[in-house]
Amino acid sequence: MFFLYFIICLVPLFIFSFTMNNILAGYFESRNTQNMLYQANKIAGTIQKNNYLTDPELSAKFLNDIDEKSTELSARILVLDKNCTVIADSNRSETYKILIVPEVMDALKGSAGANLRKSEGKIYTAAYIENEYGDRTGAVLIVSSFAEVYELLGTISHDWLLLTFFLSVIASVIVYISTGHMLTPLTLLVETIKKITDGNLSERCSVKGKNEISVLAGAINDMTEKLESEDTSRSEFVSNVSHELKTPLSSIKVLSESILLQNTAPEEMYKEFLQDINSEIDRMTNIINDLLSLVKLDNRDAGFNPTDTSLRKMLISIMKTLYPLANDKDIEFILDAEKDVEIEADETKLYLAISNLIDNAIKYTPEGGVVKVGLDSDHQNAYISVSDTGIGISEEEQSKIFNRFYRVDKTRDRETGGTGLGLAITHAAVLRHGGSIKVLSKEGSGATFTVRLPLKQVREGA
Ligand code: ADP
Repeated sequence: MFFLYFIICLVPLFIFSFTMNNILAGYFESRNTQNMLYQANKIAGTIQKNNYLTDPELSAKFLNDIDEKSTELSARILVLDKNCTVIADSNRSETYKILIVPEVMDALKGSAGANLRKSEGKIYTAAYIENEYGDRTGAVLIVSSFAEVYELLGTISHDWLLLTFFLSVIASVIVYISTGHMLTPLTLLVETIKKITDGNLSERCSVKGKNEISVLAGAINDMTEKLESEDTSRSEFVSNVSHELKTPLSSIKVLSESILLQNTAPEEMYKEFLQDINSEIDRMTNIINDLLSLVKLDNRDAGFNPTDTSLRKMLISIMKTLYPLANDKDIEFILDAEKDVEIEADETKLYLAISNLIDNAIKYTPEGGVVKVGLDSDHQNAYISVSDTGIGISEEEQSKIFNRFYRVDKTRDRETGGTGLGLAITHAAVLRHGGSIKVLSKEGSGATFTVRLPLKQVREGA
């Protein structure tokens, strides 16, 4: 990462310095060329005005002027006639020689003669001289050095490159340190996740500060907490299942061994023991059936088949089935459903959920009590209530009764044949319908369970 950032910083800075250098060079080139061209024209004008070319007596003054200008501009100045013969040379070396210079030729043709000869590091600028009739009688050539500018540009670009390099190093070091700060908690996160994946569900990521990584760590912690609690409840569930199945199995074992040990037991005793064994098997079957229902409800991939369901019809059907149980206990069995409510529901699952509630109401209401089933709705939800005048549930127990295998009074429920799974099934089924369930009760004075179900199923992904 360090090298990556180093390159990322270096390349643009390098491009920047290269471009800057080119821009500066272009600027100086054009400025110097323009300036020299201006000076050449100015000298040409002076020569013309003072008749330096036509009056030989002025030649000393003429040369003096040229020399002065040459010193002022730090450039070599040559004056040529129209045949390219050098009339004056600030260097004196080319005087009276014929000099063919492209810039002079251009000037004599009337166009601007200016050129930067990079190989020589010199700027050649030429301007023509006119006589009073407008004829081009000669040209002024200024040869100025560009080496100084090149030297300056070289120094600038050298300094730039040095600065670029140092800036890149500094930027990379800063990036290195800051990515280190960022990567350390990420590495820690990865290590913790690996431990969690290996099964250490009690591991937690340390959350420090308030940034994206700490938010991520918090989310991972929440997820792990959920996993841990699911893991705990799964093992609790397995141990509960084992325990629940062990009890009837132990009874069956004791009963069958008692029969086996009796050589000459009366037939009634055999019958009685076998009946007990039979009811223990029924009990195990009930537990297993309830467990299977729960597994089906838990399995999100298992089918959920909503159809238009008349809740009134469903309640009547459940109550008809359970009527004998209520009748046996002389319980007043009331349905309060003035209007019918139709909802989209998986009938089998909902039937099981509501019949568990009504079955419980009958089970936990003493003889002569009242069990009332109500149906109501608003524009979004249907409400089914099951209330009884039974033993009720204490506030402390109310939060636990929907847990699997939870029974308020173990011994009494074993007598009533409960598995402790009925309300867990109801709860799971109601949740799958997108609804909710709540209980209102006071110990000793009955209980009311209210189920809320949405009228329309909101399909996942819709
Ligand atoms: P069970 O199969 O034992 O009835 P449930 O899951 O249906 O199991 O109920 C859990 C516990 O909640 C029951 O053991 C019982 O103690 C309590 N309970 C459920 N419904 C009622 C009710 N209507 N009145 C009083 N207690 C109830």
